[in-house]
Amino acid sequence: MSSGHLTIDLSALASNWRTLSAISTCEAGAVVKADGYGLGAAQVAAALAKAGARRFFVAAAEEGVAVRKALGPGPMIGVFSGHMTGDTDLIRDNMLTPMLNSVDQMLRHVEALPGHSFGVQLDSGMNRLGMEAAEWAALRDIALGQKPVLIMSHLACADEPDHEMNARQLRTFREMTDGLNVPRSLSATGGILLGQDYHFDLTRPGVGLYGGRPFAEALPVVTLDLPVIQVREVHPGESAGYGNSWTATRPSRIATVAAGYADGIHRAISNRINLFHGDQPCPMAGRVSMDLITVDVTDVAGDPEFLTLIGPHQGVDAVADIGGTIGYEVLTSLGRRYSRSYK
Ligand SMILES: *Cc1c(COP(=O)(O)O)cnc(C)c1O
Repeated sequence: MSSGHLTIDLSALASNWRTLSAISTCEAGAVVKADGYGLGAAQVAAALAKAGARRFFVAAAEEGVAVRKALGPGPMIGVFSGHMTGDTDLIRDNMLTPMLNSVDQMLRHVEALPGHSFGVQLDSGMNRLGMEAAEWAALRDIALGQKPVLIMSHLACADEPDHEMNARQLRTFREMTDGLNVPRSLSATGGILLGQDYHFDLTRPGVGLYGGRPFAEALPVVTLDLPVIQVREVHPGESAGYGNSWTATRPSRIATVAAGYADGIHRAISNRINLFHGDQPCPMAGRVSMDLITVDVTDVAGDPEFLTLIGPHQGVDAVADIGGTIGYEVLTSLGRRYSRSYK
């Protein structure tokens, strides 16, 4: 084995969905954008459908193809970026449901695919995607006449429960949608945890399904094992890796591991993180290179065959914290060179 190996626990994923679904006072959907947060959209979507999810979301129409193939006809696949120029064939052929973000998208959709299912995305203050209040007020009656299947918006600060932005966006969303008699959705993982006022008719969990914060009770879904190519003895005073950023202070054994920043192992974690051999932490020794990492395995008895970067001792958020990023980025950076197994 020359590449790293990702183990993806689909039963933990399904369990996370069931928990978030139970917390939701309404139907829970599932966000599988960015190839299922890097874990394989087809496998992830199939497992979530088996657990009971019926409404899925992707970022772009292209991503909907693999998800539709995995799910077959039936479940809704919403597209957050809406109906862009050039999307019409994909939307029709894969029975996708674009979340329309503007008057232009609305016109494009009803002209190109009259009668085809759609939702509306409103901007309740994040200033990222969706129609603003004035645009919505002008278009609302026409849009409602076309029978949207969902009206949605997205929270900017839901991972900070005390942030005043949450209540402000809730108020704005209500002002834009109260009394319209169309199913509504406001909350992703963070919003689900803010409480039932934020749930409406459908929640849209993403990162919590994959084991990430802010869903603290999430079961871990990902294990990343990296094979050791060779182990060498290093004398005190000798260095390892580019820039000589690590120097041995004792007679040491350095393992060279087959993965690097080209595999999504952020260079920012250089010299600052442990890999694990069973329960034994092994400090990284030197900078992450493109395809290789050097690790101090002096305290391991014998030569390890592989070392674990993401696993029971260190989840995606722990790795993210050390690298100065978020679990979402660690997940979606996971390399294409890894072999994968699903259990
Ligand atoms: C990514 C995304 C989600 C899921 O968010 P998580 O924080 O991963 O749960 C839901 N809705 C929209 C619009 C998104 O972009």
